[in-house]
Amino acid sequence: MENILDCIIVGSGPAGFTAAIYAARADLKPELYTGLEPGGQLTTTTEVDNFPGYANGVTGPEMMMDLQKQAERFDTKVHYEMITKTEFSTEMGGIHKLWAGNKELFAKTVIISTGATAKYLGLDDEKKYSGGGVSACATCDGFFYKGKDVIVVGGGDTAAEEATYLSNICNKVTMLVRKDHFRASKAMEKRVENTPNIEVKYFHELVGIEGENGLVERAVVIDNRTQEKSTINVHGIFIAIGHTPNTSIFNNQINLDENGYIETKPKSTKTNLPGVFAAGDVQDHLYRQAITAAGSGCMAAMDAEKYLGELK
Ligand code: NDP
Repeated sequence: MENILDCIIVGSGPAGFTAAIYAARADLKPELYTGLEPGGQLTTTTEVDNFPGYANGVTGPEMMMDLQKQAERFDTKVHYEMITKTEFSTEMGGIHKLWAGNKELFAKTVIISTGATAKYLGLDDEKKYSGGGVSACATCDGFFYKGKDVIVVGGGDTAAEEATYLSNICNKVTMLVRKDHFRASKAMEKRVENTPNIEVKYFHELVGIEGENGLVERAVVIDNRTQEKSTINVHGIFIAIGHTPNTSIFNNQINLDENGYIETKPKSTKTNLPGVFAAGDVQDHLYRQAITAAGSGCMAAMDAEKYLGELK
């Protein structure tokens, strides 16, 4: 077995690059594989105003370039390649095997930071108005709709949370729930019901978006009982129909929860496999913020360093 690395990082969002900064500074000589979307979900957002340290805000792509430059300043090797297969060791001190296409890689520690992908409805209009009023993250983009009317699509806990969050910022929030009931927990449902500026439209679905100059002005909705179409004047449309954690290649190798997120041990980034750590949205369906992902990336690098120290 040739060239066994101390640390391979899979994924290039804030978790991956922060892990790289810390691992590189701890002399683990990390090699990071970006995947198909270098920079991760943040490269699809416009303004990021809530990442500490950027007093005047920053765009998602700019922030990711800054994070990459910082990781490279400490000699992280960045590969614009996708990890396609893994064979993790289950032994303490075992060597983990990864493949980038045909290339075989060996590492003592692996940090998984492959993130999660927000689900969209699949309408052409979602793409057309992406960055112009369509978003999948209220905490990231809600501020831009201060005092305005918005729509939240979905009836799960995420949608209920997004709607409640937006109700504090926006004039009115209309929730479109496709069935006659929520999927969210009773507690969240009650919170929504008790919020005066949230209106829930059951049996309603989003079928189109209208606007001018790429900016959302109206949502086209359908009552799925009657197929009757109507429009609602809004500036923002938040799609909250769930996320898919990017864990399909690790299936059957590492412990995942019932939604496919990697399970980590409390207060750490340790997975059930020695030397394999997980950071960011791939193991966190609750906070999903760049700063919390970055924080757990830092933890993963420190956990990896400690693990390597224990092997000596
Ligand atoms: P869920 O899968 O729980 O809910 C998705 C919602 O979106 C459902 O109401 C679903 O409707 C609806 N939906 C799905 N596809 C479409 C579509 N094409 N058109 C219209 N509506 C659609 O996802 P969440 O992200 O809400 O939650 C994921 C997990 O994370 C859950 O286990 C949840 O409990 C948890 N979570 C917990 C939180 C907390 O505890 N604070 C916060 C956020 C999430 P339908 O019911 O008809 O399928």
